[in-house]
Amino acid sequence: NDRGPLKVLFLSADTGGGHRASAESLAAQFLRHFPGSTYDLLDVWTPCGVYPWKTLVDSYTHMSAHPRQWRFFFHTSNMFLSEKGADWHSNLFCGKGIRKRIIEYDPDVVVCVHPAMTGSPSYQLARLSKKLGKHVPFYTVVTDLGTAHATWFRSKRCDKIYVASDRIKKLAKRRGRFPDNKIVEAGLPIRQAFADEEEKLGDRTSEAGRAYQASVRKELDIDTDRQMVLVMGGGEGVGGLETIVDELYTQFMKDGITASIYVVCGRNEKLKESLASKDWSALLTQERKTRKRDRVARIFKGGKKAEGETPTSADETAKGDVKVVGLGFVTKMAEYMVGADVLVSKAGPGTIAEAACVGLPVMMTSFLPGQEAGNVDVVLENNFGEYNDKPVEISEIVSGWLQNPELLAEMSKNAKSVGRPHAAEEIVIDIGTCANAWKSLDSGAGRMSDL
Ligand code: UDP
Repeated sequence: NDRGPLKVLFLSADTGGGHRASAESLAAQFLRHFPGSTYDLLDVWTPCGVYPWKTLVDSYTHMSAHPRQWRFFFHTSNMFLSEKGADWHSNLFCGKGIRKRIIEYDPDVVVCVHPAMTGSPSYQLARLSKKLGKHVPFYTVVTDLGTAHATWFRSKRCDKIYVASDRIKKLAKRRGRFPDNKIVEAGLPIRQAFADEEEKLGDRTSEAGRAYQASVRKELDIDTDRQMVLVMGGGEGVGGLETIVDELYTQFMKDGITASIYVVCGRNEKLKESLASKDWSALLTQERKTRKRDRVARIFKGGKKAEGETPTSADETAKGDVKVVGLGFVTKMAEYMVGADVLVSKAGPGTIAEAACVGLPVMMTSFLPGQEAGNVDVVLENNFGEYNDKPVEISEIVSGWLQNPELLAEMSKNAKSVGRPHAAEEIVIDIGTCANAWKSLDSGAGRMSDL
């Protein structure tokens, strides 16, 4: 039965929100297309107790907020000797623990969606398979868009590797020596909600598209008579969001724009509270220079806080009508992206792939050196957004977009041409069919629990 139920083990970790989001999107497709399947998500490193592996999530959280440290780490670990050393070290000190955890779940198939979990786990799985006298397939699904760390390609025992772009396919061949028949270019797996929303929205610039957008906005309690800008900074809510929001607000007010700014604060409660309690009209009376001084004073607590400026003419010239709303962790991301006219975000691969599916132009405001640099290129090369890391310039550009519906429509069309809303479904049907074939071929072999 090539659509029979499977026990699927995903290898991932909460370094950012993208890996989990991809795993969940794939898991949902297993449940849809291979009814009765079960799945679990395993982070092999956090519970392993061995330094530095056990600190993976905390180190990433720290370094993603300190891009220079991240750049150093990314490039030094992206070298052949470091890769080899890491595999050797992890196999030696963590191998037994990894095997134990895999045995506990006893999977029919292992799907890796994290670059740090290809080498050693696939080696340990191959050892277990050999002992059992059956093949338990291992697949890697690369959740990066424009570029990828070499550790994604460490598994020589990988049955197939799924990539999102031609650029990553080239890397898989060069860095992983994968033959063509093992690489599948399928797009980045995103949640089914994006495929559903994309189908209902169609062309967001058409009359039907606009009507659908209005209905989604109503459902989310977003004003339908204002333009909507969605601001986000990745799963952790990083990336200097507050400064960007301040500047967007001021610029829109000056330019006479009627808009709402929805800010996805993720797990950043402090930002949400700060947005809710802010005196927005006071912001208008301050010149940008003063606001900058205020922010510096805020950062270096105890520093001399800038005195309030004499109210400037900004108050009088402010003609817009702008509303700012802080959101916590958003579960209805597809709907919010349909409701938005522009996305302002860090260049996270998942976020960009999702925006592309629903034809949403993207203003990128930051990226993690190394792994996210290629995402910026994907957006720029396909003309559905811009990159700028200066809040004042970001706000000027976005304001310009909102005043230029033709440009927004053009960018939306370009974004849609890049979107792959059905990637997760295609990947899972391929993996599940192969895994079921292996399962029936080896039906006489024992289960891992017998080991
Ligand atoms: N996300 C979400 N709700 C939020 C914030 C983020 O569902 O409130 C999702 C977002 O839709 C995307 C993922 O988290 O799927 C972020 O992944 P990305 O690859 O863009 O960045 P990462 O956080 O992994 O660096």
